[in-house]
Amino acid sequence: MFDRTLETLGPDRLRDHQWRRFRAMAAELFATNRFVTRKWRAAGIGSADDLRGWDDFRRIPLTSKSELVADQAAHPPFGTNLTYPLERYVRVHQTSGTSGAPLRWLDTQESWEWWARCWGFVLRGAEVGPADRVFFPFSFGLFIGFWAGFEGARALGALTIPGGGQDSPTRLTWMEALGATVLVCTPSYALHLVEVARERGVDLSRLSVRTTVHAGEPGAGIPAVRARIEAGWKARTFDHGGMTEMGAYGYECAEQAGLHINESEFILEVVDPATGLPATDGELILTNLGRAGSPVVRYRTGDHVRLARGACGCGRTFARLDGGILGRLDDMLIVRGVNVFPAAIEGVVRRFSAIEEFQIEVFRDGELDEVRVLVELDDAAGVPRVQEALRATLGIRLEVAAVPARSLPRFDLKARRVVRKIAPQNAV
Ligand SMILES: [Zn+2]
Repeated sequence: MFDRTLETLGPDRLRDHQWRRFRAMAAELFATNRFVTRKWRAAGIGSADDLRGWDDFRRIPLTSKSELVADQAAHPPFGTNLTYPLERYVRVHQTSGTSGAPLRWLDTQESWEWWARCWGFVLRGAEVGPADRVFFPFSFGLFIGFWAGFEGARALGALTIPGGGQDSPTRLTWMEALGATVLVCTPSYALHLVEVARERGVDLSRLSVRTTVHAGEPGAGIPAVRARIEAGWKARTFDHGGMTEMGAYGYECAEQAGLHINESEFILEVVDPATGLPATDGELILTNLGRAGSPVVRYRTGDHVRLARGACGCGRTFARLDGGILGRLDDMLIVRGVNVFPAAIEGVVRRFSAIEEFQIEVFRDGELDEVRVLVELDDAAGVPRVQEALRATLGIRLEVAAVPARSLPRFDLKARRVVRKIAPQNAV
């Protein structure tokens, strides 16, 4: 474990630990953080002294991404969710903007160290240690995830290998030459590297990679995606949960019995998205405890999750999300009255080893979504099998069409496989 004391705290001590940290952070934020203070005062919380316990915590209004985006638009470039003068901040990153305008986020020295620490939990969960050589095939741009992962690997004492500024074949060459044992990238990019290796005749079993850790997309939590990455790399694949504005909040242990939430650094809630009331199956709400300079409190992540509180075989007491992130609530499609998550479609398509890449076309017809799944298959005879597997899993018949191999886009960061179209091109 990364921090055995914290990762095995009993429930009461864990709640006390969280409350102490939250209360100290609240005192720090009040008055100087305009975004938080304005929001809390509107809810009748006039000072940190009004926060006396968990009932008061639950009076704090939820925060949504759209509020943060609107705040930054009104107060460019960084918005008002800042607790300290700008000179205290040392790093700026931004979200990918896959769902709307990108959010910029600032970190202080302290919160950047905290990010590294949070990634320490992620990497130790995947049993990465000081003897490992961790390769990051990442362009080291504005996206925070792999910067923080890089810092986390360093904090653990592993050898960190920056893989920026290289094409995929060069990255494979360097991974082999430097003896990389761990690959950290998006699930899509791990699969892309498998494809590149195959095309170039590179035998991945010659490399020393034994573990892959994924960020940036939920794919590694989808069993069929995980199985494909593991088969391609002859390695064990671990998922992780994180967001630019929140931090690296979740990780898998060797049991791989869901995504542990790092409850020493984050407060976890799950609510019914319609009512805001506590639920077991619903929207993931998180509060970070180590980023006082730019905090998010009771944040609506938009992620659909199922909470599991039972003991884990690894000995950690942190709660788990059963099946990881199940999907984005705002990605949910309603096809002929049936709720369909793109992640569920991916979970079926990835079972077919002949399909390298796929795309989900969504057509809006009045109030209704209609979906066509494009799959890279040279032999269209495979289409009915894919369609039948989708029907068996989702309970609905979707149109499936074969397209030539390598005709769909590849991604190294944040795959965009759902494409919205105005009107059907073919009758469904
Ligand atoms: Zn565990």
